[in-house]
Amino acid sequence: MGFKTIAVRTDGAQQFVDITQQIRMVVRESGVKSGECHVFIPHTTAAVTINENADPNVRKDIMNRLEEIAPSTGSYLHSEGNSHAHIKSSVVGASLVVFVEAGQLVLGTWQSIFFCEFDGPRTRNVMVRVSPG
Ligand code: ZN
Repeated sequence: MGFKTIAVRTDGAQQFVDITQQIRMVVRESGVKSGECHVFIPHTTAAVTINENADPNVRKDIMNRLEEIAPSTGSYLHSEGNSHAHIKSSVVGASLVVFVEAGQLVLGTWQSIFFCEFDGPRTRNVMVRVSPG
């Protein structure tokens, strides 16, 4: 199989969107029982990460600290005005891998997969490939 593309619509300038259920659906549809699920974000001002799904303040703290690293209103060379989003994208990362076992994503109890928007709102793509092995 190739990969599947999921559309994610963000409604804020900077936000985390829980995409775990959409990824679970792709794993289920793949029929793969044991292997790896690769998640890739084909964008330079967005990212993907795994973190806590229970306390929303964890995401807020992460976003706030990223904002300290690369302030939205900071002074940058890149003329598009979204350098802060490019920096956050590289800090967080564009891809991740989750094991698949018994046809399920192997995630910790408190873990979810989050699409990270840093220059929204936009419609974004998330590429997912489930490989047996
Ligand atoms: Zn740019």
